[in-house]
Amino acid sequence: MRVPPTVVQGKGRGIMTMTNTDNAKQKPHCDCGGEMVRDSRPMEFKYRDQSITLDQPAWYCTSCGDSLLSVSDSLATEAAFMDFKAVVDGSLPAAEVKRIRKKLRLTQDEAGRRLGGGPAAFNKYEKRREVPSRAMANLLRLLDRDPSRLNELAPTDKSAV
Ligand SMILES: [Zn+2]
Repeated sequence: MRVPPTVVQGKGRGIMTMTNTDNAKQKPHCDCGGEMVRDSRPMEFKYRDQSITLDQPAWYCTSCGDSLLSVSDSLATEAAFMDFKAVVDGSLPAAEVKRIRKKLRLTQDEAGRRLGGGPAAFNKYEKRREVPSRAMANLLRLLDRDPSRLNELAPTDKSAV
């Protein structure tokens, strides 16, 4: 699933993720003894050689600037981070996949059968459970420019069940 992002911050030890419970409502204490407050602040996430800044809800220490993320805090930025990763890897964000598929007037099932990947592929792409390969992303980019070329593709794979 998700690879924990590298967090780049000027100070502090970076992200501590709470994995067992969602403590968004219980006020935690920072290791430094400082008081923590709920806030949403810009946080820089790195993937490969690129970075993205997302508004990250979390508990923030008023003394040392450390942050503490609950499970739901992590989930709040997960979709945007997954899309960012897809783009860095030469693929497409989920909303783009869906936009192009609709432009081609294909259901998710049809898209998987006609373009490849099988009938479940586009459901996975659009729910961000899987990132389209560069090859699939490139095919979608070309068809986005000229949807009429859909007719030139190989016949629908009937064996793809
Ligand atoms: Zn602190």
